[in-house]
Amino acid sequence: MSGTVALITGASSGIGEAAALSLASRGASVALVARRADRLAELADRIRGEGGVALVVEADVTSQEAAVAAVRRTVDELGRLDTLVNNAGVMLLGPVVDAPVEEWQRMVSVNVLGLLYTAHAALPHLLAAATNGRRKVADMVNVSSVAGRVARNGSGVYNATKHAVGAFSESLRQEVTGRYVRISLVEPGAVSTELADHNRPEILETIRQRFADVERLEADDVADTIAYIVTRPRHVAVNELLVRPTQQQ
Ligand code: NDP
Repeated sequence: MSGTVALITGASSGIGEAAALSLASRGASVALVARRADRLAELADRIRGEGGVALVVEADVTSQEAAVAAVRRTVDELGRLDTLVNNAGVMLLGPVVDAPVEEWQRMVSVNVLGLLYTAHAALPHLLAAATNGRRKVADMVNVSSVAGRVARNGSGVYNATKHAVGAFSESLRQEVTGRYVRISLVEPGAVSTELADHNRPEILETIRQRFADVERLEADDVADTIAYIVTRPRHVAVNELLVRPTQQQ
């Protein structure tokens, strides 16, 4: 991937952090986008220490202005944009009845609107890279979830946001794939990250119990999947990958 530029949202922890390290180790210059600038700065130092190029972009993707500015800064400072990993997300589970609606608003804002704003801002640059770039192909990898394939009692709004990501990705794929912008969907099962930690204590306990006997995926396992997708030859588009821990039902 040397000579290419990748922007990764949600790069301050978990899957996004692992994806940034993975793409940087394959030669991509990486723009690291999230709100926690201190975590991004540590990651950027690590990537630079390993000989890579990293740009810290502190941004809240729920603001369209911030998403646009993040993409613009990436292109201004790193020169182009070949790969977008649309990964930032939140998962706040629990029954619909009596749910704190504020949690729904946060999920829709990050998982749906944040992803849409970033995709919209990035697309002209991805199309340009697919036309003029060295590889003549560009990638948008949208991180959905098993929850984007299968709805369950207790995760209705998270399911809704991730199904939205799937529907949007398939429609956009049909729109731009003829111009060599590949739109891919990654759907992980349970991954060992900070994602569940933002839930209310009683919900967190339910999640812990559900996965107590499951050896979860590591963030690196999902990063491998993303790296596989974006390193395929130009004529190969991996549209969708569902990756569960072996023991997850
Ligand atoms: P983490 O909580 O470790 O990472 C989430 C990332 O999203 C953080 O870097 C966070 O950064 C960022 N983020 C959250 N809100 C915003 C915002 N408003 N603006 C910019 N960045 C934001 O969880 P994961 O790595 O597990 O999650 C990554 C993706 O993977 C999510 O889309 C999630 O739904 C999906 N996924 C995860 C699974 C799992 O089991 N862990 C399973 C299936 C899918 P910061 O707080 O610094 O802004």
